[in-house]
Amino acid sequence: MAGEVECEAGVSIEDLLRVLLPRGWFPPVTPGTKYVTVGGAIANDIHGKNHHRDGAFGAAVRELRLLTPAGETLICGPDREPDVFWATVGGVGLTGFILSARVRMLKVESAWLKVDYLRLKNLGELMRELERSDAGYRYSVAWIDGLARGASLGRGVLMRGNHALASELPARMSNILWPAARGRHNVPFDFPSFALNPLSIKAFNALYYALHPDKQGQLVDYDSYFYPLDGLENWNRLYGRGGFTQYQVAFPNETSERGLTEVLERLAAGGRPSFLAVLKRFGPANPGWLSFPREGYTLALDLPMRESLPKLLRDLDDRVVAHGGRLYTAKDALAGADAFRAMYPQVERFRELRKRLDPRGVLSSSLARRVGLVPRGGEALR
Ligand SMILES: Cc1cc2nc3c(=O)[nH]c(=O)nc-3n(C[C@H](O)[C@H](O)[C@H](O)COP(=O)(O)OP(=O)(O)OC[C@H]3O[C@@H](n4cnc5c(N)ncnc54)[C@H](O)[C@@H]3O)c2cc1C
Repeated sequence: MAGEVECEAGVSIEDLLRVLLPRGWFPPVTPGTKYVTVGGAIANDIHGKNHHRDGAFGAAVRELRLLTPAGETLICGPDREPDVFWATVGGVGLTGFILSARVRMLKVESAWLKVDYLRLKNLGELMRELERSDAGYRYSVAWIDGLARGASLGRGVLMRGNHALASELPARMSNILWPAARGRHNVPFDFPSFALNPLSIKAFNALYYALHPDKQGQLVDYDSYFYPLDGLENWNRLYGRGGFTQYQVAFPNETSERGLTEVLERLAAGGRPSFLAVLKRFGPANPGWLSFPREGYTLALDLPMRESLPKLLRDLDDRVVAHGGRLYTAKDALAGADAFRAMYPQVERFRELRKRLDPRGVLSSSLARRVGLVPRGGEALR
């Protein structure tokens, strides 16, 4: 059927873009890097800047082929073996190997985005603006200044856009409807770990805010808009040898403002401000048992790793649970089983289904053991 692609799970978003974008088809959901596979996109039920309009990746999957640990090949989809399907969407690989998938693509007329930039003075203003006018944009994301405090807490820059129609491009650009992907620069060495400190992060944030004045209708190529980090190979070296961790939370609408304020305040007060903080608004959740997105707001934070950080984040997990929020398995490295179970009420149902799909408990991972998706020792489920 027109508009659907059937591919092996190892095909990447980059592969899809290379082959299908010049033919006028764009991935239905794309994360902040194009170097992820279709299998990985399903297994973490990834979300993009269009969740408020199009939902997460799983919503675009018509059908997938799954090789279970018991050696069975199952075909499942929203209307066929729906339990297996919705456990696999977001199931972090624990239901079996996704072999291939049939995915609905999005028709576009060019590889350009028409983007509006808008600076907002604090978190409350950002959220009101998103609620007021998000429906007019397919894509929307806000960069947040993780160091702003007091009345400016959560100030940021909204970057919202739609795929540009061919008729919206100026005549001089009409022969470059499909620009090629950009080249890549490289970070050649690990930065010293003191390079990212509260002072340098503060300077970076102030500069970023100053460099993004309000602008309307900017034409931006898809690669720069969706994948800014992909242009910088080995960008993780900026964090030095200690590396970094991500912390991504989602709160329901009712508690979002309080929950997000608390996260930002506690990290700033603990002297662990985020180098990069990104806010998005989520639309309704899909039925994925372990799918992360839920209606409300999500904040993703990149935090330089320091000795005191794990304890700070574990304490924060309790506050996230108290506000009815949850963490994203794709980004989490620290949450414990109790917190995870409180965040994802379908853990027990997932473990029950695994008894059928993986009777000998073959599949496991350190994430699965830590958050209680499989028994701790990884021993066979009984
Ligand atoms: C720079 C950057 C930006 C990102 N931005 C976003 C974002 O905006 N939104 C978002 O949602 N995520 C984002 N992510 C996270 C990323 O999209 C997910 O972690 C994604 O799942 C990675 O896919 P992968 O193909 O690299 O899989 P891997 O990292 O190799 O695996 C991820 C999970 O998928 C499982 N898996 C992979 N292939 C299969 C298969 N064939 N069958 C069964 N299970 C499988 C693995 O077991 C594992 O649990 C970002 C990551 C980076 C590095």
